[in-house]
Amino acid sequence: MKNNSVNQEEAFFFEQGDSPLLVSMPHVGSKLCPSMEGKVTKLAQSSADTDWHVDRLYDFLGEMNISILQAKYSRYVVDLNRPTSGKSLYKNADETGLCPLTSFSGEQLYLSNCQPDKKEIISRIERYWQPYHNKLRQELERIKAKYGYALLLDAHSIKSIVPRFFEGSLPDFNFGTRDGMTAPNKLLQELVTIAKNSSFSTAENARFKGGYITKNYGSPDQNIIALQLELSQINYMDEEIFQYSPAKAALLQKPLRQIVQAFVDFYPK
Ligand SMILES: [Zn+2]
Repeated sequence: MKNNSVNQEEAFFFEQGDSPLLVSMPHVGSKLCPSMEGKVTKLAQSSADTDWHVDRLYDFLGEMNISILQAKYSRYVVDLNRPTSGKSLYKNADETGLCPLTSFSGEQLYLSNCQPDKKEIISRIERYWQPYHNKLRQELERIKAKYGYALLLDAHSIKSIVPRFFEGSLPDFNFGTRDGMTAPNKLLQELVTIAKNSSFSTAENARFKGGYITKNYGSPDQNIIALQLELSQINYMDEEIFQYSPAKAALLQKPLRQIVQAFVDFYPK
């Protein structure tokens, strides 16, 4: 470990289960890093674009004995679902970068002349991005060694209305398999059907096709099946004050749990 580095246990929370599935939550963290102190706007301090309460929403994973990996730090520190190259994820689509300078609503995250320089960006990659990915890779390898294959669910949520990224309201369940590159269509259709049967709206490989994690780790040829699920926050929380709504969430958790179970039960061969 390098001097001053946050130790790996601090960059993420990890709980090892005993099933072929790993659930990754790269945007659930809302902490800012010490080097951002005094340099960011009020909006940044609120970590507004967090995948709020995704950990609570998936609180059944422990009972199902499923491995869980959760980021502790905000996507404003460094976005774990972006490549470190800083290259964009999708052609011709607006998106926030590796160390975003603006929020989803287009507001500045840094005070003037306080934006991270190259050295700071590299340091954030080393302290927060790399440990998460090392753990993710290690756990997929462990699962694969045990079962012969590994399944990865990259769990996200976003505000139902973000004009910067999509028109109108986002469907309730947004499944992404990079247009079928990271998971078989048979699995995708099975999960979509579960959501539809609970009267939720769905989209497949539409605006959210799967980010860097899905793309980088999903490789059916190598027996690693990956799928991103982007949920609309309107179905489980008050989007304005970031408050979890247990009553709303209960309705969403029913199909969500079934989806996770169907994913666990999927045998890729
Ligand atoms: Zn997310």
